Amino acid sequence: MEQLPAGVKLCAVSKTKPEAQLMEAYAAGQRIFGENKIQELVLKQQHLPKDIQWHYIGHLQRNKVKFIAPYVSLIHGCDSLRLLEKIEQEGEKNNRKIEVLLQIHIAKEQSKFGLTKEMLFELLASESYRNMNFIEIRGLMGMATRTDNLAEIKSEFEQLASIYKEAKARFFSEDSNFSELSMGMSGDYKIAIGAGSTIVRVGSAIFGTRG
Ligand SMILES: *Cc1c(COP(=O)(O)O)cnc(C)c1O
Repeated sequence: MEQLPAGVKLCAVSKTKPEAQLMEAYAAGQRIFGENKIQELVLKQQHLPKDIQWHYIGHLQRNKVKFIAPYVSLIHGCDSLRLLEKIEQEGEKNNRKIEVLLQIHIAKEQSKFGLTKEMLFELLASESYRNMNFIEIRGLMGMATRTDNLAEIKSEFEQLASIYKEAKARFFSEDSNFSELSMGMSGDYKIAIGAGSTIVRVGSAIFGTRG
């Protein structure tokens, strides 16, 4: 893949890939790795160097949060207040602030997870969220529709960037930690960067296709 512009971080999506392949990327300087299965992340975290920043990019079940709460560096896909409350609980148990991105539904497909803009603002305005002490919302995340229509993808990413800006202005204008927009994968990361992405989640373009 091509060199990323300054200010855009690479989350190397290593799901399904053997540890040796992660170590090759590590030796080349990569420190942020993304996984979407708890069991796999737990094992890789145990075996691999401790300065790796593990990002969880999958759909997170509430009963699995405890397995990654002690060390996870960023949870990309939080899409409900109930899940956020669970992460808050586990953050408190581990006495650490857990960093999360809220996932926004931008794709046309029904199957993709995520909040609508209205749900996002409702969550951010809620009493429950405002009382949390062990959550740091770092920004938003989204996935575009799987399509060859580049204009459609671009328009979805721009829509997410616009929701990000509105959320920033309404709820985080004093909070410099709200600064990340996770969008873009192997097939569309250049479009995502053009639309304002700060974290691209790239797997197959680095590690090869998954079986
Ligand atoms: C697998 C995955 C990626 C990476 O996909 P590639 O097309 O291999 O780059 C990015 N984000 C999420 C949420 C994923 O599940």
